[in-house]
This record gives sequence, structure tokens and C-alpha cells, in this order.
Amino acid sequence: IYSIQNVSRRYGSLAALDDVSLDIRRGEWISIVGPSGSGKSTLMNIMGCMDSPTEGTVLLEGDRLDKMGEPELANVRRNKIGLVFQQFHLVQHLNAVENVELAQYYHSMPDSQEALDALERVGMKDRATHLPRELSGGEQQRVCVARALINHPDVILADEPTGNLDEVNERIVIDFFHQLHDGGTTLIVVTHDAEVAAQGERQIILEHGRIAREVIGVDGTPTKGQKNRDEAE
Ligand code: ATP
Ligand code: MG
Repeated sequence: IYSIQNVSRRYGSLAALDDVSLDIRRGEWISIVGPSGSGKSTLMNIMGCMDSPTEGTVLLEGDRLDKMGEPELANVRRNKIGLVFQQFHLVQHLNAVENVELAQYYHSMPDSQEALDALERVGMKDRATHLPRELSGGEQQRVCVARALINHPDVILADEPTGNLDEVNERIVIDFFHQLHDGGTTLIVVTHDAEVAAQGERQIILEHGRIAREVIGVDGTPTKGQKNRDEAE
């Protein structure tokens, strides 16, 4: 679904990404790990049409993202991608369900029932009318997850989606990602959490803006994601 070839993103003399090449299959679940400052968010921003590389090519479903300007990139964001940010970017004066509905405006008319259903799937239905400031960090994070999937995107890009969650809520989000993956959604997840990273079919390890290593499965054992794919083939 993505084909990334020799991509660099330079800020002056600093290469936040340095000659990265990566192909991601439709329906695949990829974990991106690596130390702070290794370029994880930079890579996500480029895949998520929020930034452009200074060198290299990026294709999403055959379309050259690196050649697009902002109006075109915005269309791709709306139509193909669901984003869960490291910072939440919730609209502070809208309550939880309204924040989820907001994403629907891009596509169709907002549908409160659908938005409530999405909140229910992340265990947040009883907080639907709370404003962001009345929600804990973990609850806000789950609103973001609900918002990311309301339009049934082809790809979910999540930057530290469980960074603010306790174990119970982390489990809710992981289970939910498994449901999405089983439904064919491509998942690309940046995480510092080894347990979350191990859910992916492949772990891409970034260091100093480069792909240092790639790990398939956990300890040579196929992950749940790989098993599902093997059974489907
Ligand atoms: P973290 O785990 O802390 O979120 P990360 O792997 O997501 O880190 P990035 O945010 O991708 O790291 O940043 C990679 C490098 O690029 C860092 O050295 C960062 O300081 C630099 N960088 C990121 N954005 C900019 C910017 N707008 N201008 C200059 N340098 C930047
Ligand atoms: Mg980051």
C-alpha cells in the first residue's frame, strides 16, 4: 500500500530521515520503534501527508505523495488515512462525541449514533458528553482512536497510541487494533512499548533516521497478524 524509496527529510544539516526505503503491504500491521529523535514521527508525518520528504519518493496506493501540494495531500488525508497523534489535537470546546463527529464532516453528514458506537468500541460511551478538559489523558487518547477510524480509512497511522494508557486501557486499544487488522485495515504504529510493538507483523527499528533492523514476529514465533495472513492465503 506504501512504497517508500530512498526518502530523506533534512532540517538544515540534520537528517531526521536518512535514505529510508520501506514497502508496506495492504492489510499489514507494522510497528515502528527506536529511540527518541530517531525519526519515527517524521516518517509517520510523511506517510500521513502532513510533511514531505526533501528527497526520495513516497507512493500510497500508486500515487506520488512526494509530488503533491497541500490541497491534494489534504484529500488523501481525508479519504484514506486515520491519524492518532502523539499529542491529541482534540477540539477543546467540543465534547467527546462531537470531536468524533467532526471527522465525519469530511466525508458525509455526522452521524451521532455511529460516533457513539465508535466511542463504545473503545470503552468511552459513558464519557461521550465530556469536554476534553474533563477527560483523563488515557480517555482523550481513546477519543482520538475512535475519531481516527470513524471514516473507515485504508490506513491507520498511530503515533504512541497507548503512551498515556494504563494496562487495562492499553489492552482495549490493542484488542481494537486487532479487530481493525482482522477487518483488513493497514496499521502503522509507532510505540515505545515492547508489548504493543510485538503485536505487529514486522517491527521496523529506526536509529539516527535510518532503518537499523527489521524484526519479523517475536522470537521467531509468528505473530497473531502473520498467522491471520497465512490462514487467509
Ligand atoms: P520521539 O520518540 O521523541 O517522539 P521521534 O523518533 O519521533 O522521537 P522525530 O520527531 O521524528 O523523532 O525527530 C527526528 C529528529 O528530527 C530529531 O532530532 C528532531 O529534533 C528533528 N526534528 C523534528 N522536527 C523538526 C523540525 N521541525 N525542525 C528541526 N528539526 C526537527
Ligand atoms: Mg515522535
